Amino acid sequence: MFAGHFALAAAATRTTDRTAPLWALMLATQLLDVFFVILFLAGRVEYADEVHPGYGGLFIHADYTHSLVGALAIAAVGGGLAAWRWGRRGGLLFGGLVFSHWILDLLVHRADLPVLPGDLGGLPRFGFGLWRIGWLSAVVEGALIVAGTVAYYRSVRKRGGARRRALVAAASMAGLLALALASDLLALE
Ligand SMILES: [Zn+2]
Repeated sequence: MFAGHFALAAAATRTTDRTAPLWALMLATQLLDVFFVILFLAGRVEYADEVHPGYGGLFIHADYTHSLVGALAIAAVGGGLAAWRWGRRGGLLFGGLVFSHWILDLLVHRADLPVLPGDLGGLPRFGFGLWRIGWLSAVVEGALIVAGTVAYYRSVRKRGGARRRALVAAASMAGLLALALASDLLALE
């Protein structure tokens, strides 16, 4: 879902006249995974098991960064910092995008997302498991890429970009997202 998360950042540029820049929106959509990688490197505090090799084959053990409350906390802190830098609207957008990662993960993950950090209380875990149907996840992710690219094109036009420039920008964005999805599908990551 790497590409799908980024696609939301591209789509969000539509609402960002003079708020947060594109790189910040992209970082926001991946922030939970950034912390996941940090906790992985810090002695495999969080890690992933392979249910099967290839696309959508992971069971993720991310009990802090991808717990519902943990994700909300990261979104709140990130949104607060972003608000300090880019104002209220920028902060709300940044925080919203950080949390959008959890919502998209909820859709595709197997039931591996806990409610409380560290799976405190052993409450039920969530995840609708769309990854079980690989082709359907890929279609959903592809649709996100198309929607994100179209919205990105419109946002470049809205900010006064010429049609040619907007087309080049949107095509580069689509190319990057498609490449990310393709590498995910081929499990090259
Ligand atoms: Zn994630």
